[in-house]
Amino acid sequence: PLVLGIETSCDETGVGIVRGHELLAHEVASSMEQHMRFGGVVPEIAARAHLEAMTPTLQRALASADVDVSELDAIAVTAGPGLMGALVVGISAAKTLALATGKPLYGVNHLVGHVAVDTVEHGALPRPSGALLVSGGHTSLLRVDDVARDVTMIGQTIDDAAGEAYDKVARLLGLSYPGGPIIDRMAAEGDPKAIRFPRGLTARHDLEKHRFDYSFSGLKTAVARWVEKAERDGCEIPVADVCASFQEAVADVLTAKAVDLCRRDGLEHFVLGGGVAANSRLRTLLEDRLREIGVELRRPRPGLCTDNGAMIAALGSAVVQADLPPSPLDFSAHSSLPVSTVLV
Ligand code: ATP
Ligand code: MG
Ligand code: FE
Repeated sequence: PLVLGIETSCDETGVGIVRGHELLAHEVASSMEQHMRFGGVVPEIAARAHLEAMTPTLQRALASADVDVSELDAIAVTAGPGLMGALVVGISAAKTLALATGKPLYGVNHLVGHVAVDTVEHGALPRPSGALLVSGGHTSLLRVDDVARDVTMIGQTIDDAAGEAYDKVARLLGLSYPGGPIIDRMAAEGDPKAIRFPRGLTARHDLEKHRFDYSFSGLKTAVARWVEKAERDGCEIPVADVCASFQEAVADVLTAKAVDLCRRDGLEHFVLGGGVAANSRLRTLLEDRLREIGVELRRPRPGLCTDNGAMIAALGSAVVQADLPPSPLDFSAHSSLPVSTVLV
């Protein structure tokens, strides 16, 4: 099916168009610069930026795919989770488009979209697959029996998301927002073994209750303490070493629990998704350790890991192929839609 996807859950206005698994267009307008001086996304600014960017982004995507709206088989849009005011802009646009063209509309889950986007690069997702969703707001270990209708949360962060930890550590090191890409770059110059930072929820007594859960707030605090002490001692902060050691701790614990899940469930396929999936260390460490146990890792290219419309179009295409009914035209935005609700 020919499906157009609209994404506006955070600070990226994304429109993607797919035909089956084939990506035809992928246009993103970001309001990131407008949030930089605040150190994080400001919801009101994000919502207004979506309103301004929506129509031009839509037009660019249609032009670049050389598709007319009349040819579409379906429209998909992020129904949640995300910022309420931001979601509402995308949903309103999608409903209007659906109403004007008579095309069926599917309100889908943003988090599952981060997993589904891999299909435009590597084809249908083998069933079952494990998945690790690591983004600015979420860190979840999933079991995906069917990306269109059967996604189970196995574990998640009990405090900060991995991307949030990256952003907070960047801020305390005086680096700019978003911190992930900068720390990733700085880490390349540093020694990952320079400082041994804690791996949250990996001690024996934590594993009983939190075998597949994550915690990153202790790690962030440990980095803050380490930096404060170095400053008190009058040392120059070895920023590259701190970045590399922090990055190693994050990648190590994310990987360990993914490997544990694959072993427990005998999974042979695993997908990495979300903004932090662009991280160079996580990509290689996870691939190496999964390969050792015979699991194939699928990773979308970095440009498709952060928020975009292609992921929503890809999930919409999977939902249409699964013959699921369209969403009612009066559906609402769900700021904390659970990952198990693929379609509203
Ligand atoms: P969610 O999907 O949970 O609603 P979000 O949409 O804001 O959150 P994404 O756009 O998927 O999140 O990802 C953004 C996050 O990814 C930011 O926290 C950013 O720092 C992080 N990130 C981006 N590139 C990298 C990288 N190379 N290494 C580590 N983190 C990265
Ligand atoms: Mg973003
Ligand atoms: Fe996201």
